[in-house]
Amino acid sequence: MYIAGQWCAGAAGRTAPVLNPATGEPVGDVPLAEPSDLDRAADAAADGFAVWRAVPVARRTALLHDAADRLTARADHVGRVMTLEEGKPYAEARGEVLRVADTLRWYAEEARRAYGRIIPSAPGTLLSVRREPVGPVAAFTPWNFPAGSPMRKIAGALAAGCSIVVKASEETPATACEIVRCFDEAGLPPGVLNLVFGDPAEVSARLIASPVTRLVAFTGSVPVGRLLAAAAGAEMKPVLMELGGHAPVIVCADADPVLAARRAAAAKFANAGQVCTSPSRFLVHESVHDAFVAAFAEAADAVVVGDGLEPGVTMGPLANERRLAATAAFVADAAGRGAKIVRGGERQGRRGWFFPPTLLTDVPPDAEILHEEPFGPVAPVVPFTDLDDAVATANSLPYGLAAYGFTRSAATAERLVADLEAGILSINHCGGSVHEAPSGGVKASGHGREGGPEGLDAYLVTKRVSHLLGD
Ligand code: NAD
Repeated sequence: MYIAGQWCAGAAGRTAPVLNPATGEPVGDVPLAEPSDLDRAADAAADGFAVWRAVPVARRTALLHDAADRLTARADHVGRVMTLEEGKPYAEARGEVLRVADTLRWYAEEARRAYGRIIPSAPGTLLSVRREPVGPVAAFTPWNFPAGSPMRKIAGALAAGCSIVVKASEETPATACEIVRCFDEAGLPPGVLNLVFGDPAEVSARLIASPVTRLVAFTGSVPVGRLLAAAAGAEMKPVLMELGGHAPVIVCADADPVLAARRAAAAKFANAGQVCTSPSRFLVHESVHDAFVAAFAEAADAVVVGDGLEPGVTMGPLANERRLAATAAFVADAAGRGAKIVRGGERQGRRGWFFPPTLLTDVPPDAEILHEEPFGPVAPVVPFTDLDDAVATANSLPYGLAAYGFTRSAATAERLVADLEAGILSINHCGGSVHEAPSGGVKASGHGREGGPEGLDAYLVTKRVSHLLGD
């Protein structure tokens, strides 16, 4: 862990093993915090905030750029570390590291634009609005983007002038440590960034209740998000919640089904489907259904499953045994209700947590996979006749994170944009997020945005100042 600028173990020396998903074997141990460690981290964040908020923005920006350059220079190593603990293919892991270094650079520059405003008022008065850092942040990040999730929060908080305590995932701790190392070496003052691990429920309860914490940021599942938002609500603390989704992909009658299938499959099997915006319900017009399924099956056949450190592998194992069990259960449930398994469907090998690209058709409406986020490499395809019905199905779940539409008609595209309940909408592609635009959900998928000016705004509070001049 990293508290008050020092690397440390937990006060009681407790640890948990970190497992390589490709083998199931331990690759290291993660230290676990005691309550006293968490209190120390909160105190450090209070001290760090007092220092950091007073650092001129130009120096803040320069330091964040320095950390980003260090991370870029280390991308090969950090990518390898990430593959060892999360399983994604090395090229994907290294790409994530390079991308998050850029995220940090983007926030470093956005820090210069935390503008307030002057409001016209009576002569002799100055009425203004100032934007100030909200204060120390408690952040909780998951295992699926071991660099991406922590960095979005660290970059937003630090750019805004906040300090932060991050509890990164105990399943992918080393990537988070590598990120923190870059800030440490860049000369970040002690206490501005703190990294802890432990029992997630204990850590979040203590840090959210700490009087030091002014904002709670979480990425993860809807149930845990509800828990943390409720705990923060009891303390009247604002939250930034990036929760799960169940992204519909609507392929209209006028779309190119082959192109749609190729693009959707590429997104579906990225990180073995363990992405909150992963396309996960494929609603395909009946006239293009068979062509879509054939092209999707072809794309699934082209995926090379294996240890992410092996050259040529394009999809790694699932990140943990829970996902393997959950993925197998979704497929068994759908098959039990009459769905047809076109590709995949069963665990691959006995060593590691591999599950192949899986394609299901004839999936009945009551199959669990059409209601619960699969978070695995399974694509259920459902035909539709009427676009109104497809939109109603897409909007029928409590989730509202990402949605995708494929159509050649600008009018149909705009209709989907208007009617789909989602915080992130992509037309004719399933591309990922970019730092300069906001990501986040509606409905149970959370609130607040990461990325774009909104991503900085999340870490700022507004102060109205009216100044009577002249006395
Ligand atoms: P989970 O619900 O147990 O945990 C999700 C994340 O929250 C993990 O990182 C975990 O360490 C953390 N967590 C759990 N309890 C916590 C607590 N009380 N306080 C603070 N953090 C806590 O599920 P899981 O098995 O790790 O992941 C499975 C599900 O989580 C998936 O089906 C998916 O829906 C969701 N998930 C979403 C994202 C995302 O990017 N939105 C990322 C990872 C997992």
